[in-house]
Amino acid sequence: MLDLSTNVQFVKGIGPKVAQTMLEKGITTVEDLLYYLPFRYEDRLNPRGIGELRVGEMASVIAEVRTFGLFRTRRMPLFEMTVGQGRDTLKCLWFNAAYLKDRFRAGMLLALYGKVEAGDRGGHRFQIIQPQFEVLHDPTAHEGNGACEDKKWQSLEVGRIVPIYESAGNGRLTARWFRRVIHGMLEGMDADVPDAIPPVVRGRMGLIDRRRAFWQAHWPEVGASLTNLQSARTPAHIRLIFEELFFLELGLELKRKKLRAQTGISFPIDDSVRVAVKRILPFHPTAAQKRVLKEIAADMAEQAPMRRLLQGDVGSGKTIVALEAAVIAMENGYQVALMAPTEILATQHYLSARKILDPAGYRIVLLTGSQEQGRKKQTRHHIAQGNAQLVIGTHALIQESVEFDKLGLVIVDEQHRFGVMQRFRLMKKTDVAEPDVLVMTATPIPRTLALTLYGDLDTSVLDELPPGRTPITTRRVGDERAEEVWEFVRKQVAAGRQAYIVYPVIEEGAMEGELKAAIKMYDQLRKTEFTGLRVGLLHGRMNADDKDATMARFHRGEIDVLVSTTVIEVGVDVANANIMVIEHAERFGLSQMHQLRGRIGRGAAKSYCVLMTGGKVSEEAEQRLQAMVRTQDGFEIAELDLQQRGPGEFFGTRQAGLPNFRVANLLRDRELLECARREARFVLAGPNADLTKEEIASAVRHLRGHWNRRYGLVEVG
Ligand code: ADP
Ligand code: MG
Repeated sequence: MLDLSTNVQFVKGIGPKVAQTMLEKGITTVEDLLYYLPFRYEDRLNPRGIGELRVGEMASVIAEVRTFGLFRTRRMPLFEMTVGQGRDTLKCLWFNAAYLKDRFRAGMLLALYGKVEAGDRGGHRFQIIQPQFEVLHDPTAHEGNGACEDKKWQSLEVGRIVPIYESAGNGRLTARWFRRVIHGMLEGMDADVPDAIPPVVRGRMGLIDRRRAFWQAHWPEVGASLTNLQSARTPAHIRLIFEELFFLELGLELKRKKLRAQTGISFPIDDSVRVAVKRILPFHPTAAQKRVLKEIAADMAEQAPMRRLLQGDVGSGKTIVALEAAVIAMENGYQVALMAPTEILATQHYLSARKILDPAGYRIVLLTGSQEQGRKKQTRHHIAQGNAQLVIGTHALIQESVEFDKLGLVIVDEQHRFGVMQRFRLMKKTDVAEPDVLVMTATPIPRTLALTLYGDLDTSVLDELPPGRTPITTRRVGDERAEEVWEFVRKQVAAGRQAYIVYPVIEEGAMEGELKAAIKMYDQLRKTEFTGLRVGLLHGRMNADDKDATMARFHRGEIDVLVSTTVIEVGVDVANANIMVIEHAERFGLSQMHQLRGRIGRGAAKSYCVLMTGGKVSEEAEQRLQAMVRTQDGFEIAELDLQQRGPGEFFGTRQAGLPNFRVANLLRDRELLECARREARFVLAGPNADLTKEEIASAVRHLRGHWNRRYGLVEVG
């Protein structure tokens, strides 16, 4: 009998060598192979008659090979085949397919799947180009090769809904091979498959049992809905998806509980702290800022370490909230670290922190990679001695090499480069107590991602912009209208305003020859459209001093038009700048454009964002541009971005902390994720009348046995 944890090499038809190949799909155990679900299903119960096909549809056809041949056209070898059912025939075409030359024999029975197109003049009504195919039966291969077994295979291939698997091992392990092996494995499986989801949860979610779920996800019962199968909405799929999400959420919840059980620091908030916090405020906080600070202060007052995520759209005023939290820690005699993703941003945080905190006498230091060694050493010394109260720097710097005297609060300004949470622990600490951690993000994170990536954090949302903002008018124009745009920029500058002009690349490379590059356009605009204006240039390859100097000049209003790459994306704050022109806007991701646009609309003057397109705009790019014109709501934009790019690419770079799901899909399974979260919290809050201690323990045991391999996350502890 096969156990779920049995190594696949012991499954009939596999063996050590094939098991090695299966590693590429992350399959080592019987359980892994059971989760290797079909990516689609083919209806071979009611395969289509060739006569009843319709142009444009995806169809599967079972037919017999009639004639075939390889033709050399001028461009490439073309493999052409005619298949038939009685008198009806269908043409199939494969491009560049010399490899098919000896694959077929007349009389073979094939299952074909593909898009039906109108046939050519050669007498065929229909054709399918590049169909997927499988040989169902080969009448010429009967002898020698176990005709009997062939019969059994055949019963898996026709007359039913057939699972289609991704092949593996460079095509050596075919879909057909997987069908045979998985079917055999299911037959050999223990009747009793353990289920670690507590019965009360199973009941509430209406989950079918695990064994049935595996069977039916691979081999749907007669009458199963093909639509539900393809969209993973059969009871079998729902069961397996929920299970995957449930244990993920259980793990995150367990982590959250564990963290909260650690010894942290309690920062009492008495009247003198309250006065100190109020004293630094340069303006009246918004209701959202007040609410969020209250949530943070309550966390900080508690002994348990704070692990809080502060989400707030660009310009929502996160900085002041962070500085208020810093004041709470400093007033209690602790040090604070504020980590920013770039030097520009660290420097800017430093400047605004000085402006706000200097008058109250707090000691603030800046630590960046480009500072000279002697100065850095001295700063480190100050930090280790406890003289410096607020340390601002880039992530890398503070994490790697700084020793604190009494670190109480870490503020991580991640913008949208996440994945730092796991790493902040690298910081050297002399103290045993866990510092509080506040992570700030400027890209609103779609809830599905927040639940998976940050499920172990508490969340605060700044959902209100500070007063006095006028909405930004956003337009999209083709670059044939550039003249008008530059004219508009000149007018605004004449009225005393400043502008950003953003380009997707720095220099024109061979590949991107048609793209306008920041450096070239800087030269050109300066000499033509903007003669007489003060034009500046900012890009990522400038050294830090030059960047800082340029930003400082823009800040002081000594530059009218700043030509730049996306380096200005992160946190730059110049209230007088009210125009942003983004060239080749079709090239930018949604969240990135949203971030960029967040640089304007910060002052009282009306702001304008011009999305200029050059050349061809894809359908997806068109959707992005329209979304930008339609809305300024960061959460709406984030959702759309997630839809377009998928969870893996949402943050621009691949996200380290994102679990590798086997069956779940964050875009599709959002509701199940919410349920999983709710049920996981319920389970770990137990036991209760419906839930025994042993049931909880059994769920947690299952989790510990699966966490690392299933989700690829850091250990739960
Ligand atoms: P974020 O970091 O969330 O993008 P900032 O903290 O930089 O936003 O705030 C954006 C701008 O709004 C800053 O110039 C800041 O001084 C200002 N601001 C923040 N909160 C308020 C408020 N309550 N009233 C007026 N101005 C505010
Ligand atoms: Mg605390």
